[in-house]
Amino acid sequence: MALRKLVAGNWKMNGSLAALAELDAIAVAAGAHAGIDVLVCPPFTLIPAAVARAPDLIFGGQDCHHAARGAHTGCVAAGMLKEIGAAYVIVGHSERRADQHETDADVQAKARAAIAAGLIAIVCVGETEAQRDAGHAGIVVSNHLDGSVPPEATEVTLVISYEPIWAIGTGRTPSLADVAEIHAIIRAKLIDLLGRAGERVRIVYGGSVKPENAADILSVADVDGVLVGGASLTADQFVPIVEAAA
Ligand code: PEP
Repeated sequence: MALRKLVAGNWKMNGSLAALAELDAIAVAAGAHAGIDVLVCPPFTLIPAAVARAPDLIFGGQDCHHAARGAHTGCVAAGMLKEIGAAYVIVGHSERRADQHETDADVQAKARAAIAAGLIAIVCVGETEAQRDAGHAGIVVSNHLDGSVPPEATEVTLVISYEPIWAIGTGRTPSLADVAEIHAIIRAKLIDLLGRAGERVRIVYGGSVKPENAADILSVADVDGVLVGGASLTADQFVPIVEAAA
């Protein structure tokens, strides 16, 4: 089933007020391709200025806390992101699972908070290189979904991003057959967990997506978009990826 494609940029801890100039060309490309969703996730601090500069683009956060408010120094609640104009939030990125020791239960709680606040949660799942070499990629991803997907999620409130950890920022990607195999496993698991809604939850691929490989990756069955790190930082790299999805 062809779902509306999502091209998402994750700026991670990169960018500056000056870097928001990149949004101008990205907004033009997004405006020319109304049939897809183009999302940029800058650091929290840049979101208000990003929204002001490119009001027709879609913006998101890169994380949120599971609580709506409270004594959590340095954290940001999903409702706070919503209030400043975010529509999405990434949760469970492998860098946070590694650096902040986030578990599947943490990720599920964050996704639930995001949905409760009116955001679309992008839940990231993916295997390490050792897990893939051991033949365990499918089961690792399946277990991530079991633990991280909120039972109340629907195709409107949830996106899954398959991000093999060994492909992030390395220039390496799985074969198209491997992407197809894992996306099919994710689709089956989503139907198992969410019923009919699971047929329509978008599943995006992330990990060294570039202008050169975007069209091939986007042509794979059940690849409903891409989550792009490094190549989302500049319009000259990100716009061709947007065009590949259109
Ligand atoms: C990411 O961190 O989500 C990512 C996919 O990074 P990159 O595109 O740089 O591999």
